[in-house]
Amino acid sequence: MRVEVSAALTWPCAALREADLAARTTLRVGGRAEWLLEPAHPDEFVAAWNAARERGFEPRVLGGGANLLLPDGLLAGVVITTERMGRVFRPRPESDSDGGVHEGAEFAPLLPALVPLERGEDTRLVAWAGCTLPALVRITRDLGWSGFEGLAGVPGHLGGGVAMNAGGRYGATWDVVEGVRVLAPDGSVRQLARAQCAPRYRDGNLGGAIVLGAVLRLRVDERAAVKERVATFLREKSAAQPVSEHSCGCVFKNPERERSGGRTAGQLIEAAGAKGLARGDAIVSEKHGNFIVNRGRARAADVLALIDEVRARVADRFGIELENEVKVWR
Ligand SMILES: Cc1cc2nc3c(=O)[nH]c(=O)nc-3n(C[C@H](O)[C@H](O)[C@H](O)COP(=O)(O)OP(=O)(O)OC[C@H]3O[C@@H](n4cnc5c(N)ncnc54)[C@H](O)[C@@H]3O)c2cc1C
Repeated sequence: MRVEVSAALTWPCAALREADLAARTTLRVGGRAEWLLEPAHPDEFVAAWNAARERGFEPRVLGGGANLLLPDGLLAGVVITTERMGRVFRPRPESDSDGGVHEGAEFAPLLPALVPLERGEDTRLVAWAGCTLPALVRITRDLGWSGFEGLAGVPGHLGGGVAMNAGGRYGATWDVVEGVRVLAPDGSVRQLARAQCAPRYRDGNLGGAIVLGAVLRLRVDERAAVKERVATFLREKSAAQPVSEHSCGCVFKNPERERSGGRTAGQLIEAAGAKGLARGDAIVSEKHGNFIVNRGRARAADVLALIDEVRARVADRFGIELENEVKVWR
């Protein structure tokens, strides 16, 4: 295993000291990480995690940074990014792998590594945590496999998508997850079958485990039909959301329908007159009330103040306390 030396510490993977983080998030807010580790393989990830913990750090995991608000200034400790763990491949035939994810055999790529992904009877794919959601939408669309179209236009990595159960009205990540390989909080690596997990709305509910990869099971469909759905969902998304601006997606979760009378967080924010509110360069989008956009030089403090103000306005007007969807690192 390659060992990189940087400043005084060595790490079992590529490592950057005082790495800029803002550019690694879609909101473009945040300072530097004391250490940023970039494993290129799930085993390297585990080694990096263990090395950090042995040195007394509690590592944080960064995926595509599409649902994160990072602090200004120096973030002490270790951040491990899945950026370099983008591999996606066909699993071993089910007959070879004893029928389940328990063996973990699916996570060992068949060689040669670059066998093209072709349509076949086995509609499973294995992806490591850093494979991007847009890449998976593209790959499954080109194969004519259905199940992932609902993620069209959602940025981020598969690991973040599984952890957040990312999705929308046309489907969510866990709809197609058959099993996950995780690094549990006790440091053990486990394969969890879908039946062992209980994902919820915008929450993979993995009890603090880190996603290293997942087995996805899609459904055979007409290529043209999948392509058409992806295009339609992308059009709908860009008509409704500020997708070309810097944001972290929806800031708040939608409240339960019984409490909100069926109104989404965005509708409540709009009705509370909070669209267009600004703090520094952070502004509540005029296009979609649940998005805060960075117009240029927004700081975490601006975004946090805006989040508080929007929450207070909705609480005053409707008696509903909005819960963050965005993850805030402090
Ligand atoms: C323009 C735009 C549109 C969006 N639209 C949607 C949408 O329609 N639906 C939706 O659900 N979301 C949407 N989002 C939010 C975002 O795309 C999703 O939440 C996505 O799943 C975040 O993945 P990520 O890899 O970027 O996670 P990050 O932002 O990097 O991390 C988010 C959280 O997940 C944790 N995490 C990251 N990787 C792992 C891992 N491997 N294992 C365990 N925990 C991990 C992080 O520590 C953090 O707590 C949108 C965002 C933007 C900017």
